Amino acid sequence: MTVKTRFAPSPTGSLHIGGARTAIFNWLYARRNNGKFVLRIEDTDRSRFTKESIDEIIGAMRWLGLDWDEGPVRQSSRLRVYQELARELLESGKAYKCYVTPEELEERRKAYLERGEVLRYKREWANENAHPDNSYSIRLKTPDDGIIEVKDILRGVVRFNADEIDDFVILRRDGFPTYNFAVVVDDADMKITHVIRGDDHLINTPRQALLFDALSYDVPKVAHVSMILGSDGKRLSKRHGATSVLAYRDAGYLSEALVNYLVRLGWSHGDQEIFSKEELIDKFTLDSLGRSPAVSNPEKLNWLNAYYIKKKPAKQLAELILPIMQEKGCPAQVDNKLAMIIEQLRERSKTLNDFVAQSSYFYADDIEYEQKAKDKFLKEENIPLFNTLIVKLTSIQKFNHSSIHKALEEVVNETGLKFGKIAQPMRVALTGGTVSPGIIEVAEILGRNKVITRLNRAISSI
Ligand code: GLU
Repeated sequence: MTVKTRFAPSPTGSLHIGGARTAIFNWLYARRNNGKFVLRIEDTDRSRFTKESIDEIIGAMRWLGLDWDEGPVRQSSRLRVYQELARELLESGKAYKCYVTPEELEERRKAYLERGEVLRYKREWANENAHPDNSYSIRLKTPDDGIIEVKDILRGVVRFNADEIDDFVILRRDGFPTYNFAVVVDDADMKITHVIRGDDHLINTPRQALLFDALSYDVPKVAHVSMILGSDGKRLSKRHGATSVLAYRDAGYLSEALVNYLVRLGWSHGDQEIFSKEELIDKFTLDSLGRSPAVSNPEKLNWLNAYYIKKKPAKQLAELILPIMQEKGCPAQVDNKLAMIIEQLRERSKTLNDFVAQSSYFYADDIEYEQKAKDKFLKEENIPLFNTLIVKLTSIQKFNHSSIHKALEEVVNETGLKFGKIAQPMRVALTGGTVSPGIIEVAEILGRNKVITRLNRAISSI
């Protein structure tokens, strides 16, 4: 049996990181088992789906590197299939037409409530006459009592009382299937062997079990993974910061860092924290999925992102950074200068955006001084130092690391100042702040002209 999994987002908004984690688990399980992975777009709720959301989800999947073997299949393109099967269920007496409109149903529900009863639709109005427009929904006849058992890979057997499940709609009046019906039909039709999804779907499983049974379909194995919680223990939401995958991309996270981070929220392999995709494919198993909710940990993500930035080949890093720089109007290009900046900043950057922000003084025509740094280091008493630096650095023949180093050593000897006392004012003059890579490296990257101009400007700013 070929393993086949699917990711089945409802395109009602962005791809949330919780959804992305579900997609990753399904993708990994398929890849681990040389199986197939299907992308299915569940767009049958016509009032909620948007085309932009479909595009965004597909873009996010591509960015994460989650390739699919089938799809994207849109459920809205399969209406005939659902309608045909609903008709079969009608004919076999397992389902029936319901003419009650949603508005009428709401009123009847209210009337029940007023009597202190809860309406659980069990064929109450099954024999009601057709309305003049003859439109109807189709409801599944569900058992009045008994227990519905669902076997979950992670949770064992989960039991539900049948009397709590009403005769639910499988085909709406507009001819569109409901979520539960479309899922069951598609999972069977597409020969899905394993369903891995968030445990917010656990409550749907008894309805789906009844449908698998009514349609005499084989039931796929299911695993409901715990939700991701925010650090306050509440379900992860916008309150906890960015939730959409593309927002992370736009904030300068690498896709491999986000994938690594999301997998580790709920899955483990000993104490290992860092996994390449190949390693994940090699090691991923369902039984190592955690049973308790995973708590989001933004610091961990930053740590992983910094790690992947450090490890990324310079050329690839340049390709990622350049568009961000150019968008900010920075005149950077792929050249030796950018290579040197990457060398210096990759160890100091949590995100690509952080990298770009730190690199700005290398390209700017003019820099702004941080007020505190200016007050502390751009002072009268440092003017002679700046002048000495200008003289020494101007007289260098070839302006490179070793000659700058030598020049600064001479300044140390001549002024009697410690290196740090020279480097820090120079750093403020060259970068505007007190934090940067080594000052010799900074000077080398800036080049002589910019260095001399900035030292002069420091003097005139005092
Ligand atoms: N379309 C559902 C959702 O986005 C997922 C359905 C499923 O995995 O069964 O939540």
